[in-house]
Amino acid sequence: MRILVTGGAGFLGSHLCARLLERGEEVICLDNFFSGSKRNILRLMENPHFELLRHDIIEPILLEVEQIYNLACPASPIHYQHNPVKTVKTNVMGTINMLGIAKRVKARILQASTSEVYGDPKEHPQSETYWGNVNPVGVRSCYDEGKRLAETLMMDYHRQNNVDICIVRIFNTYGPNMLENDGRVVSNFIVQALAGRDLTIYGTGEQTRSFCYVDDMITGLVVAMDHPSFTGPINLGNSTEFTINELAHLVLKLTGSKSPICHLRLPSDDPTRRCPDISYARKILNWEPKVTLEEGLKKTIDYFDRRISQSA
Ligand code: NAD
Ligand code: UDP
Repeated sequence: MRILVTGGAGFLGSHLCARLLERGEEVICLDNFFSGSKRNILRLMENPHFELLRHDIIEPILLEVEQIYNLACPASPIHYQHNPVKTVKTNVMGTINMLGIAKRVKARILQASTSEVYGDPKEHPQSETYWGNVNPVGVRSCYDEGKRLAETLMMDYHRQNNVDICIVRIFNTYGPNMLENDGRVVSNFIVQALAGRDLTIYGTGEQTRSFCYVDDMITGLVVAMDHPSFTGPINLGNSTEFTINELAHLVLKLTGSKSPICHLRLPSDDPTRRCPDISYARKILNWEPKVTLEEGLKKTIDYFDRRISQSA
């Protein structure tokens, strides 16, 4: 199959491209390199079945493919808030452009949606039937509402034009290929611990997240895409919940770091609790994460350790 991965040079996209190539597919990786990196795909460039396009999905493009994974969008709050209007354009105009390709060439398209569609949830854990609690005018809304509208577009192209769609709601995922300055909590804590700098906990640290290792997530994406005619939306994530304080102490333990912990201001609209109900994914896709937080953190720490010593 010929498969388009938008955002293919990013954290999740680079792992997905690698997985699809291993399976023998032809992969077109499309990226504008806003939060992606050539380093993530350097190894893949040697593969004759891999093609790289520097392109911005807010501009139309003509391509002939059988599947589209639409991952293009910065995922870290500091990146998506850097240019919020651009974040909305990527999610709305970009998604329309990708749906346009899917409609024209009858490709199946998977949209990387997010747990952020639930906002600061009043239902816990979050199941797919919950409609969410999103601030439409806050600093996170360019991402949250952008992703919600992308889901709407997917459903409307499906109902109106019979486009073969799949919506997955991804919960916090971590692992190798995150940027050192990505700004998300796992990479921040690991980089800070390895450098002996303060671990920056925002607020009290009693807010929770549920962290999924990247290999498990990539399996989930591929299984959902390959499930014929399945539209979703479906939650993909690890259902073991941790406070940010617990995460900080685990990173300190696994790195053996003596870094102190400091508390900084909690960003506005930061969700207080987040944990996926994945019973639908277990039932429909026969999928669930296998890697524990401790195992996944060890692999991620090894990755950042190597990266830091290479750049030293
Ligand atoms: P990332 O920032 O590492 O990767 C996103 C990639 O998209 C980058 O390579 C970036 O350069 C590219 N991109 C951004 N805007 C683009 C545009 N307009 N045109 C072309 N390319 C563009 O993020 P990630 O963690 O790999 O996330 C991938 C997708 O999964 C995103 O859509 C994100 O919203 C979604 N997601 C991720 C998580 C997570 O925890 N990692 C959670 C929920 C949803
Ligand atoms: N966070 C933190 N210190 C950091 C980065 C993030 O305490 O250096 C907190 C953040 O406030 C949030 C949680 O960790 O409560 C997860 O943040 P992240 O940006 O990784 O993802 P998201 O908020 O999008 O789930």
